[in-house]
Amino acid sequence: MSNLSTILTRSAQSNPAGIAVKMDDVEISYAAMEAVSRKVAGLLKDRGLLPGDRVALISPNLPLMPSIYYGILRFGAIVVPLNPLLKSREIQYHLTDSGAKLAFAWDGVLGEVGPGAEAVGADVILINADLMGLLGAVESVDETAEAAPDDTAVILYTSGTTGRPKGAELTHENLRSNAECSTALFGARIDDVVFGGLPFFHVFGQTCALNSAVMTGCTVTILPKFDPVKALEIIERDKVTIFEGVPTMYIALLRARAAGDNRDRFDVSSLRVAASGGSALPLEVLREFERTFGATLLEGYGLSETSPVVCFNQLDGIRKPGSIGTAVRGAQLRVLDEDGHDVEPGTVGELAVAGAYVMKGYWNNPEATAAAIPDGWFRTGDLARMDEDQVFFIVDRKKDMILRGGYNVYPREVEEVLYEHPAVAEAAVVGRPDDVHGEEIIAVVALKENAEGTEDPERLAAQIREFVKDRIAAYKYPREVLIVDALPKGPTGKILKREISTAPTSP
Ligand code: AMP
Repeated sequence: MSNLSTILTRSAQSNPAGIAVKMDDVEISYAAMEAVSRKVAGLLKDRGLLPGDRVALISPNLPLMPSIYYGILRFGAIVVPLNPLLKSREIQYHLTDSGAKLAFAWDGVLGEVGPGAEAVGADVILINADLMGLLGAVESVDETAEAAPDDTAVILYTSGTTGRPKGAELTHENLRSNAECSTALFGARIDDVVFGGLPFFHVFGQTCALNSAVMTGCTVTILPKFDPVKALEIIERDKVTIFEGVPTMYIALLRARAAGDNRDRFDVSSLRVAASGGSALPLEVLREFERTFGATLLEGYGLSETSPVVCFNQLDGIRKPGSIGTAVRGAQLRVLDEDGHDVEPGTVGELAVAGAYVMKGYWNNPEATAAAIPDGWFRTGDLARMDEDQVFFIVDRKKDMILRGGYNVYPREVEEVLYEHPAVAEAAVVGRPDDVHGEEIIAVVALKENAEGTEDPERLAAQIREFVKDRIAAYKYPREVLIVDALPKGPTGKILKREISTAPTSP
């Protein structure tokens, strides 16, 4: 089995002059990326690191970041990608938990990384203009470390429901085979241009954008901080053909394009396929995107623990808008009841996954691993149902389900209706503890820029509430609608339900 970094070595051989990564005017060819990755491996050797050691990589998407990633892998060390927005206490936790002795960190985050690393005695190498000088002084390592099928390539920290973040250990083979799966799903070719707006420190951007593009030998054009107007500019400028994003990115793109005279300002005709994952894609958003961008938008599903892709709609196969499609090749899915037995098709249960993409386990955490994979089947924590065509639908996260007066309410179903309201741009439905009903259903929404009725927000909120009430069963509609400027989001743009305040508004 091969080291994941060989996907770069192969493309450097077959397409040396091809542009691997670009950010505006900065372009890095495959040959250059491979050469820098050899230097990075040389630097690790110089610093006395050994294969199996953990090396943190704390950076937004920058042109040099992939070379460092593949250099660490080539050397046989384990990459621990961390969000550059972490504070020093969090950095300290992640470095301690992973046992990383060395961190590559973008110098824009040194203020937090420095103290965090110092507290645990880890070395920091800054990702800045001086790095090339530092690398120039070391000898390249040209050989690639062998990787056994079970050797860990990357430890990805993921929050889960409770406790501190846990490190999902993904093997070279997990990541390589899942990148292969993404590549096949999107029909990626050497002349494709992939939009790199999802962070590479997160599993979705890492596998589906970076590793899949590098495996294909095509170009990733990166945008370190997502901004919908910049994204539209990049799509036009670089003739992006494959776009990957989370639903909030698609919502933002639609909003940006609808604002003012942007609609005709950007030529997005190069787009061939778009993929959405990470959270539920509202049907309205999917339809509007396909209508206005003229590209197929495929929804899929995965998690950090599954490298991530396990289920997807297909370009030239089964496709059901509103679903997450069918199990991808290499993944097996089941829907289980509380006792771990398969439920009937059409019945809601917990989605469980087995196969090539499931992580080895949580780093240094056998209890959490045994709880997540009790019998060879990884429990996703997501509620789903399968239809007669073996197409899966995510109903909601198990932990997001609201229990109101004895009824199960799945927020996603209510959110779908909210998105149909013409004034609603973003919506989240959450439970608020309630003396009478146990939990009360609260909708929190952000409005479209050009929405009507914003001069009287209270009236609009009441009207949105009535709109939903008319369309779903009485026990499900939100008893209160709170209007906010924006919903809290995580690094990939996922709406963070747990950070939403549902404190009652004063009348
Ligand atoms: P992460 O490990 O950060 O990638 O988050 C994985 C979680 O994202 C899953 O457990 C799901 O709850 C959620 N998720 C991913 N894709 C979808 C989707 N298409 N629809 C609904 N939820 C999704």
